[in-house]
Amino acid sequence: MELAYRDIAYCKNVGAKRADILRSELGVRTAMDLLRYYPYKYIDRSRFYRIAEIEDEDTYVQIVGEVTEWHVTGIGKAQRLVAMFNDGVHQCELVWFRGVQYVKLSKGVKYLLFGKPSRFNHTYNFVHPDLTPWDKVTPEMTQGLEPYYNTTEKMKRINLNSKAIRTIIADLLPDLKAGVPDTIGADVLQHHHLMSLTDALLNVHFPRDTRSMQAARARLKFEELFFVQLQLLRQMKRREQNPGFSMPMVGSRFHALYKSLPFELTNAQKRVIREIHEDLKSGHQMNRLLQGDVGSGKTLVALLCCLLAVDNGYQTCIMAPTEILANQHYETLKNFLAPLGDAVHVALLTGSVSAKNRVPIHNGLMNGTIHILIGTHALIEDTVQWKNLGLVIIDEQHRFGVAQRAKLWTKNETPPHILVMTATPIPRTLAMTIYGDLRVSVIDELPPGRKPVQTIHYPLQRRAQVYSFVRKQIEEGRQIYVVFPLIKENEKLDLQDLQNGFNELCEAFPEYKISMVHGQMKAADKDLQMQRFISGETQILVATTVIEVGVNVPNASVMIIQNAERFGLSQLHQLRGRVGRGADQSYCLLLTRTELTKETRQRMEIMVATNDGFRVAEADLKLRGAGDLEGTQQSGTPFNLQIANLATDGQLVELARRAAMEILDADPLLEDERNRIYKRRLDTLRITQSYNWGEIS
Ligand code: ADP
Ligand code: MG
Repeated sequence: MELAYRDIAYCKNVGAKRADILRSELGVRTAMDLLRYYPYKYIDRSRFYRIAEIEDEDTYVQIVGEVTEWHVTGIGKAQRLVAMFNDGVHQCELVWFRGVQYVKLSKGVKYLLFGKPSRFNHTYNFVHPDLTPWDKVTPEMTQGLEPYYNTTEKMKRINLNSKAIRTIIADLLPDLKAGVPDTIGADVLQHHHLMSLTDALLNVHFPRDTRSMQAARARLKFEELFFVQLQLLRQMKRREQNPGFSMPMVGSRFHALYKSLPFELTNAQKRVIREIHEDLKSGHQMNRLLQGDVGSGKTLVALLCCLLAVDNGYQTCIMAPTEILANQHYETLKNFLAPLGDAVHVALLTGSVSAKNRVPIHNGLMNGTIHILIGTHALIEDTVQWKNLGLVIIDEQHRFGVAQRAKLWTKNETPPHILVMTATPIPRTLAMTIYGDLRVSVIDELPPGRKPVQTIHYPLQRRAQVYSFVRKQIEEGRQIYVVFPLIKENEKLDLQDLQNGFNELCEAFPEYKISMVHGQMKAADKDLQMQRFISGETQILVATTVIEVGVNVPNASVMIIQNAERFGLSQLHQLRGRVGRGADQSYCLLLTRTELTKETRQRMEIMVATNDGFRVAEADLKLRGAGDLEGTQQSGTPFNLQIANLATDGQLVELARRAAMEILDADPLLEDERNRIYKRRLDTLRITQSYNWGEIS
């Protein structure tokens, strides 16, 4: 029977019990499913070491030699067996803690030792090594790369360990060698010099050598990424066929605002507005991501886009992740719109708007007198009905859950245009996957006259120096942010930290006023404290990361980050973006403990070395790996990649995207006979289950 249809229970060395566990733990139902369960590492069994050649700990080695002496110490649970192993020149130590009674050793016998050394008092020591008498060593054991498979606790409990999986797979090899149907067309494979699926599966499990293992993995990674791209791009192409509201006109309100601006738009701002307007007048629904570093002027771009829609007779809304931000957007927009008088009506709807005050807002949305609604997720409550919502702008997208976004437009018959704005720069190849079904616009230019923020890393002991610097800045009329980290698991302790920090600053700066905000405060109190800082009444703002996103106080020129080691890179960069918004030289001071891990030190070095959000994001991706990247994590990593790694396989991502695009350009819905294999596989994979922009619009 074909491997894809052979029940795993009927494979050799499996049986009902193991089959159950394989199904529940790994989702493996068929022989093919198990062949698709790839090793996570390989150990080179063709190499034999001398003890003197061991270079580092934690790498498996095999050595030929004899056991010269051994002794058992302790009794019961504390029992251990220690043996000396000699390769003819040097000695090392072998140790067993468990199953001591089963270890049988003989003198004058040649053994093959296999295990992971650790250094201990100038000698190496192997805990629970494999020790095989030389006459029992088969050629297979010492041939090529040995695959290792991840196993779960439940699997280990029934002795379904890596070795057992290896055995089950080895039994499938003869059938596999007969050939399995490929998932990718021969033309694509040939064009990109990729192995057939049969060869790839053979070599991923039992590679002849490192090169064939790497070629096999490259083919399987490509395949995985190719189907992700095919899915995303097909979705994008399909949606681009959807009808959308047509907004061709550049009208009076847009022009009036444009003329009233006290500054010229940057070229990048002009370019993205043009790109967005192209979408708005295309007659198809827009789904666009607007990326721009902090301070690049996304808010103004958003407002101008709203006016494009309003001039064409549509309503718009801007969703912000927090109440502070919604308030601030509201204020900013009202300021910008002041010269336009009565021509544009803006309303604010957040959780703290009372039921009574909601009534006129609901009415205004329903009868169309409100043009722009700004709000938090309160804005998606069921009672909110629109006359003709034409454009939705989501600011700082990663703070919104997918479900929340979905809720906003399910009620609409014709979907509104969607613009997602993010200030978290995302490396290109990652964006291709996470936002692979969105068109992307990038504001890659800051307004002129900004001085780059100077970033300095201080160990905590130099606090006095930091304080005297702060005092000088305040004397020059500047304001200061001091941010404390927040770890969710222990809010009480965090608040304690914050309170202590606040008290300490009050003592250090008795002559100045200090505000404090944190997530546990009532919205009204938070607003009051923020307003005091924004108006300049207070000189220092002590805060948790509630101020991370979007807060704009141009007179604030110093950002002090306490325990900077506890923040991720992109968060540090976001925080730094709160300063450097005025004409003055600004500073970001990273305060950390003295003792830092290598990774933390690297994070601080990157922050000091560059202000460029994209470079920070690239570095972050390398340091932490894609699954862990901030922002993507909060919205759930969209694809469960099994073998490809977005942090290191960037080139393959680009290749896969190009290959998928070529196919879809010729056949957008995969209807050609020769593209059937792709369509069928996409249907069975259902790749975007957890992250479907299609559902949103
Ligand atoms: P972000 O992209 O981080 O949301 P903002 O929209 O908050 O950035 O813009 C930061 C500041 O720059 C605001 O004070 C805004 O008014 C100002 N700004 C926006 N565009 C320009 C421009 N073209 N020239 C000068 N200042 C600008
Ligand atoms: Mg912003």
